[in-house]
Amino acid sequence: MDMSSPKSRQELEAELACLRSRLHEYEARHAVELETGEAFLRTLSGIDHCQERLRAKDSALCEAQHGLQIALRRYTNLFNHSPIGYFLIDARGFLREANRLGAELLKTLPESLVGKPFVSFLEPEARPAFELHLQNVAAGNSSQIELMLKPAGGALMPIILQTSLMEGEEESVFGPLCLAAALDIQSRKEAERELAERTEQLARSNEDLERFAYVISHDLQEPLRNISNYVQMLARRYKGRLDEDADIFIGFVTEGVARLSNMIRDLLSFSRIGTQTQKIEMIDSGEALKDALANLEAAANEAGAEIHIEAMPPVLADRAQLVSLFQNLLGNALKYRHPQRKPQIRVAAKAVGKHWLFSVSDNGIGIEARQFERLFTLFQRIDPHGNIPGSGIGLAVCKRIVERHGGAIWVESTAGQGSIFHFTLEASP
Ligand code: ADP
Repeated sequence: MDMSSPKSRQELEAELACLRSRLHEYEARHAVELETGEAFLRTLSGIDHCQERLRAKDSALCEAQHGLQIALRRYTNLFNHSPIGYFLIDARGFLREANRLGAELLKTLPESLVGKPFVSFLEPEARPAFELHLQNVAAGNSSQIELMLKPAGGALMPIILQTSLMEGEEESVFGPLCLAAALDIQSRKEAERELAERTEQLARSNEDLERFAYVISHDLQEPLRNISNYVQMLARRYKGRLDEDADIFIGFVTEGVARLSNMIRDLLSFSRIGTQTQKIEMIDSGEALKDALANLEAAANEAGAEIHIEAMPPVLADRAQLVSLFQNLLGNALKYRHPQRKPQIRVAAKAVGKHWLFSVSDNGIGIEARQFERLFTLFQRIDPHGNIPGSGIGLAVCKRIVERHGGAIWVESTAGQGSIFHFTLEASP
């Protein structure tokens, strides 16, 4: 216990001033340490924050890695189970990877073909073509080639190889990587061969049939002419001299022979189109039309027909066949006229692209839409027992002529009102 006398006010103030100055001194001495401590605390909280962000990034990376693993598995599955054989080939032509089917095509395992030149699996004649193909791809063009595989111990196998540069791949020392997709076309080739064989057989049998039809229709004319002459002689000489039935029978025979001879004449003109060589040249279709009209003059006058012809163009055609085409269409327009009106026929042509579209329209009896298809088939008549004579060959002749000229023919019609037959012909070579 301080037993000394109480300190005076001045003493106390001096002591306080001394304490203050010592405090300032202390503060000044430790200011640096205090600041360092605060900075340390701030750094610690920064580290915490960074750690937090790193943890978030880490989990995003884990997720991305998981996604990548799934994508890789999916890619591997697709690659290996693809129905197309895939090969990764470097610019020198060496195999770097193949999927299962690719390895199967080369009759080996995916791992054992790595590093082997692709040409060693090709038949020798195909090698230069493949090398060119690869050069073309390495230059940046995707390219397709048909090749014959000849794997060791395996049979020859045709493939189509579609090759392009691998996108997004870093170039190795051997240049860019190429992805080649190989499709086995063995069955397609066999089907093509079979089809070609069948088409050839069909063409041959078609030719035989045509020649047969031509010979038959040609050779039948002579005996038929004889029958016709003798029947007419019989009719002239014995009409009224035998009994009534004999006259009727002779009439039937005369009619039948006339029908038969018309049919044979039409059949002959049909088979001629296929057997005779065409003389295709630039001709005036108006001239061909005039010839057809001259041949039909008597029938047109008898029917009192009004025939209107528009400007006719030059076309690339066989003149005799074009006359026959017009004659069949105009003949039908006269033959199938409406019983209650005079035939009005119009022939016109207009340019459609590289073709001329011709139309022959009439105001005749017309045709029901369901009959349109069969009209152009040989021996198809709409009303075979009707009273209009015919053999059902005329429109088949028209179709054959137009198709042999590379055109098409079709009909538009309304039953009871009239028909329009359209056909196309090439305008220039
Ligand atoms: P054909 O006249 O000898 O019977 P086509 O092949 O020329 O043989 O014609 C086939 C059928 O098409 C004919 O029976 C007829 O019914 C129908 N036809 C053809 N042209 C016309 C036409 N202009 N108007 C109505 N019907 C037609």
